[in-house]
Amino acid sequence: MYLNEAKATFTLPELVAGTREVNVEIDRAAKAQPCPIEGLRAEEAALMKQLKWTATVNGNTSVITLYDHAKKEKPTSGLAAMAAAVLSGGQYTDKDTQPVRVACTCGEYLAVFSAANYAADAHHGYRPRAADPRDYGYKNKVVNEGEIPGMCRHLICLYYHLKRTGRLQ
Ligand SMILES: [Zn+2]
Repeated sequence: MYLNEAKATFTLPELVAGTREVNVEIDRAAKAQPCPIEGLRAEEAALMKQLKWTATVNGNTSVITLYDHAKKEKPTSGLAAMAAAVLSGGQYTDKDTQPVRVACTCGEYLAVFSAANYAADAHHGYRPRAADPRDYGYKNKVVNEGEIPGMCRHLICLYYHLKRTGRLQ
């Protein structure tokens, strides 16, 4: 488990780049469409240097797990704590150059990226079930020929949200 977890090597900017390579419209849609994020929560496994962000994004459950997360030191004074919380937009501030694993419950993730991400150790959780993109509104049976790891629009939305709110730098 420990060694396996340490294998994640893709970063969020790399996954965005991969997404754009597969289909630039997914990144455009993530920026252009409203991106309602509900129930954002962080679960920290400090000893394993993991921080798991989970949110409901437009009705889908999106997960981004950071694998080189540094546990935050407790600020020494109340004022410093308040300032830190305001600056970071919450309890945690990490860098987006950390290795990650991601997952989303939507058809776009399942059809386009889940298999590629699993093969590249960029998928969070159990092996995703095999999906035929034609079951999710795609014309072709293969929509990610190069098996390039990437993210659906919900994961990209969540990533941009974490950046905007100071939870990721
Ligand atoms: Zn999604």
